[in-house]
Amino acid sequence: MFSRVKQTPCAVTGWLSEKDSEPAGCWYWFSIEPDPSHVKRHLIIIFALLGLACELRAQLCAVCNQSIGINVYLVKDKVSNEQKRICDNCILLNTRCYLCGMPVKSNMTTLDDGRVLCARDSKEVVLSESEAKQIAEDARSELNRLFSRFTTFPDTNVLIAIVPRTQMDQLVQTPGFDRQCPSVFGYIRSRVAQGGQWKHPISILSGLPKYRLMAVCAHECGHAWVRENVPSSRDMDREAEEGFCELIAYRLMEYSNQQAEMNAIRNNLYTRGQFDLFLEGDKTYGFYTVMQWMKWGTDHRLPEEEPDRIRRIDEKGLAGPRPVFGSAPLLIGPTPVPETLTLIGVSGTGSRRLALINDRAFGAGESGKVRFASTNATVHCLEIRNNSVLIEVEGSSEEQELFLKSK
Ligand SMILES: [Zn+2]
Ligand SMILES: [Zn+2]
Repeated sequence: MFSRVKQTPCAVTGWLSEKDSEPAGCWYWFSIEPDPSHVKRHLIIIFALLGLACELRAQLCAVCNQSIGINVYLVKDKVSNEQKRICDNCILLNTRCYLCGMPVKSNMTTLDDGRVLCARDSKEVVLSESEAKQIAEDARSELNRLFSRFTTFPDTNVLIAIVPRTQMDQLVQTPGFDRQCPSVFGYIRSRVAQGGQWKHPISILSGLPKYRLMAVCAHECGHAWVRENVPSSRDMDREAEEGFCELIAYRLMEYSNQQAEMNAIRNNLYTRGQFDLFLEGDKTYGFYTVMQWMKWGTDHRLPEEEPDRIRRIDEKGLAGPRPVFGSAPLLIGPTPVPETLTLIGVSGTGSRRLALINDRAFGAGESGKVRFASTNATVHCLEIRNNSVLIEVEGSSEEQELFLKSK
């Protein structure tokens, strides 16, 4: 994942700009290409060269910390999500950190399966198998808490293993074991066992940082949920399913305040835009609508041109046998909501507490659109108490307390 920079001077300031650097994999010879139509061309070239000279003097290689010579290479640090400048020598290093993808020159940690970590990332990873398993279990209970208003994720029939790279590669390559998920960190092979029960063995790559591990676990649990809840007749694109699973992982990271992992999910391109549409659908219509689409949506994938179609549901599907969801009313279009802002429930404990207001769950400090009657309002959730929630509605400066209705 690196590119040689094509640096071109900015016609306005004369400073070098890197807007033209190419995406990963493309190499560019260092060149200065001022716009030939520009009248002040020569002046710009001089400015550019001066700027370049200053900049090069100031540049240190992100790997060896030595000053960079004539050629600068940009390599994306996949952990910090920054473009880093690398020198001629370091770009040739074959050793790369498996988390950030940066070349590694010294102070590396090598795992038994040959993977290498840079000094920074080696501090973040969970190397103990039992600890990793515990974190994965925690991720599963958090997930169930987070979505408790809407659904439950498969539980006792999920088996989690923490595996080295070598084993992960074998799993993926074993003939007949169709890879159900292209994520490089996790693998699930759901199957129906004797008695018609689903079994979901999940493998998660060892040596991941705590929250990446949790995100991967949540993603794979998303696949397990799909197997058990989406009718087998539903013809859904692979990328749509991946987008849904990424949404599950994203929501868990959001719930855990893990901005870096949220960014990693946002920047991951493998669902080809489906994740973004799921996130948008979830933000606009709530998770209930997302689930309905997963089960009975009329499209193979979420259409970019018409994101509203996430509300379109197949009536014939609804009439047939339904998996899981029992008595919830199933309607075409938006899910029914109360006439006023209503606190439907409070779940979780302590800082993990969630308040469900109409069709939307909030943690303390979160804001979002809530539908009521035939309109909506942006609500800021200030505090969640045992039987009430303190909110502020956008456009009104007064706080309101909504109480749980006694049943
Ligand atoms: Zn270097
Ligand atoms: Zn690294």
